[in-house]
Amino acid sequence: MKFATAKHREDIFVCLVDEDQKAVLPLNRTEQARTGETSFPDSMIEFISDGDRCIGKVRQLADWVQTQEAPNAYFIPFSEISLLAPIPRPAKNIFCIGKNYAEHAIEMGSAEDIPKAPIVFTKAPTAVIGPNESVLNHRGVTSELDYEGELVVIIGKSGRAIKKEEALDHVFGYTIINDVTARDLQSKHKQYFIGKSLDTTCPMGPWIVHKSLIENPNLLDIETKVNGEVRQSSNTKHFIFPIEEIISVLSAGMTLEPGDIIATGTPAGVGSGFKPPMFLQPGDTIEVKVEKVGTLKSFIQDKD
Ligand code: MG
Repeated sequence: MKFATAKHREDIFVCLVDEDQKAVLPLNRTEQARTGETSFPDSMIEFISDGDRCIGKVRQLADWVQTQEAPNAYFIPFSEISLLAPIPRPAKNIFCIGKNYAEHAIEMGSAEDIPKAPIVFTKAPTAVIGPNESVLNHRGVTSELDYEGELVVIIGKSGRAIKKEEALDHVFGYTIINDVTARDLQSKHKQYFIGKSLDTTCPMGPWIVHKSLIENPNLLDIETKVNGEVRQSSNTKHFIFPIEEIISVLSAGMTLEPGDIIATGTPAGVGSGFKPPMFLQPGDTIEVKVEKVGTLKSFIQDKD
């Protein structure tokens, strides 16, 4: 099951995605047609918090739709909606893991930069935008805007001191971000935060794939294209710190909560790794594709 936050006319709602039909099933509207009532949360964070109960109800609802005379009537085509970021306004900063692929650590410095423990930084929630939206080019603030395609973990169940063996039980599902980075700000300031948090520099989506569809998140192809040209191509099996370890380390003394977002790091092939560097330019199109998750497409604003 894939869940999205969508906007249709003035309504914003959580929906089930049917990729084959290129349509979404709005949960509350469909439930209302079935029972006359609505009981699904309108926000994805609440939906995730109520995960197990909601998933069971979604299954029942989807089965019911298929028994109806015209099942398609309950779906809204992609052409009539806008997909927002699945969590349009995270409750807290987005956790990010730095240099989690050895080849990327080397391209950013040398083999000595391969971390011995996860590097953790965050992005501000105000940086989030949805799929198919434009990243501001921030002329005058940065001249070194760069892409980082990443698999993202969405936490489903609260916990502290989560053991590695139990870590995936705390996951709700997976999505994608482009951890767009202002490299000049990242290196000028002694923490990554400013360079990682400019408005619009966290495209997220296009949806959250429920964990039941992904047997092993540490074994997924990941690819980033800029204007159709492959720049990053790897597999999450190359993580230095697999997802179980990241969750265990983050939660050792800090509670993780439903709706928390963890970006797992980017492979080699970022723009600053090329000689000369290939930073993003106005008008560029970036696509981050993760196997079994989907493709997140973004644009760089084509004018100031
Ligand atoms: Mg990153």
